[in-house]
Amino acid sequence: LPVVAVIGRPNVGKSTLVNRLCRSREAIVHDQPGVTRDRTYQEGFWGDRIFRVVDTGGLVFDDDSEFLPEIREQANLALAEASVAVVIVDGQQGVTAADESIAEWLRGQAVPVLLGVNKCESPDQGLAMAADFWGLGLGEPHPISAIHGAGTGELLDRVISFLPATTETDEAEPIQLAIIGRPNVGKSSLLNAICGENRAIVSPIRGTTRDTIDTTLEREGLTWKLVDTAGIRRRRSVDYGPEYFGITRSFKAIERSDVCVLVIDALDGVTEQDQRLAGRIEEDGRACAVVVNKWDAIEKDSHTMSAMEKELRAKLYFLDWAPMLFTSALTGQRVESIFAIAAVAVEQHRRRVSTSVVNEVLQEALRWRSPPTTRGGRQGRLYYGTQVATRPPSFTLFVNDPKLFGDTYRRYVERQIREALGFEGSPVRLFWRGKQ
Ligand code: GDP
Repeated sequence: LPVVAVIGRPNVGKSTLVNRLCRSREAIVHDQPGVTRDRTYQEGFWGDRIFRVVDTGGLVFDDDSEFLPEIREQANLALAEASVAVVIVDGQQGVTAADESIAEWLRGQAVPVLLGVNKCESPDQGLAMAADFWGLGLGEPHPISAIHGAGTGELLDRVISFLPATTETDEAEPIQLAIIGRPNVGKSSLLNAICGENRAIVSPIRGTTRDTIDTTLEREGLTWKLVDTAGIRRRRSVDYGPEYFGITRSFKAIERSDVCVLVIDALDGVTEQDQRLAGRIEEDGRACAVVVNKWDAIEKDSHTMSAMEKELRAKLYFLDWAPMLFTSALTGQRVESIFAIAAVAVEQHRRRVSTSVVNEVLQEALRWRSPPTTRGGRQGRLYYGTQVATRPPSFTLFVNDPKLFGDTYRRYVERQIREALGFEGSPVRLFWRGKQ
């Protein structure tokens, strides 16, 4: 996704603007307690575009403190990947020294910059207030009121005009597949079963573990690149003790992947670490298949698999769309099927559905269950929806007022979309957008 960097001192109203861009979807998907999550960024959308919003909230530009070199470096990193930077200043306060040092720094950057002058509540004074900021040398100051919404639409239109044009993805590119899981669930054993022993060298002797370069292979008529196979081997560093778990490395692998194979140990069931990994996969919008390994070590009768699946799924409810496969790296049972289910997940992840089909599904959903009415008698209205992105499939639903659509109804609509359209192995995003 393209990146939009939002920059500004504390209290200028940056987060109010960011909240306008990023209507939280977490609220509807993850309101159950008990799941540890690690948040890194937010997804914003405006018009028909989806992008990543990097809020430079961690970079404190304080009026008293200088713009420290290490802060500058962090900000440079954030900016390096951005398509456009939005600077927010406080119109009521006027130009401050900190604004000037931010501006000076930004003038040396290659990224296009938009300047939003916030707290311009009154339309006639707004322009005059904003005019003071021409002196920053960042181009036209746009008067906005993040709280009331005045001017923000125009500013956001400018923002998305700087995003790169959406290109259809190159089908010939290899699919990046990441094998994700806690230590000891059998990732390297699976890797060996998939690639043959000599690709991922299993060695018990400290210091002899060799890194493999990215492993590329052909399966199911597709080219797959296995992400960070070296990381799979470099587990449980002796120096950190057996408790050490390189979750950051796993997060990076998830980020680099198109599809994740989340490996669970059949003997342990779903642990909190598994949930963290699963949560991150969903949050990053990756396609996913769950592989329950060490199936050979489980004593079973004819009901074991379905009973176990039910139990595991209860703890992985936010991956309820992911297919589940029971494997044994030891005997090789179903190991090759991993690619078959991953291929389906990837296909669904890239799927595009026509607007007419989306609206048939929505109409049907509305017929079975009307949108809720508030106590004040206002009725939610769902006008129409359209798919705005793939990887994962994302839909914008245009409604009279998003506040009238509570979590229950939102979940209902998502379920209806899944029931009608499938998307097995892929997360789906719904953005509820009000008329403004
Ligand atoms: P990793 O840390 O996820 O890469 O896990 P490893 O592949 O190193 O496996 C950890 C341990 O589980 C080793 O002792 C393996 O022999 C064992 N193991 C891995 N897969 C299976 C399996 O399918 N069945 C059984 N019974 N043991 C397995």
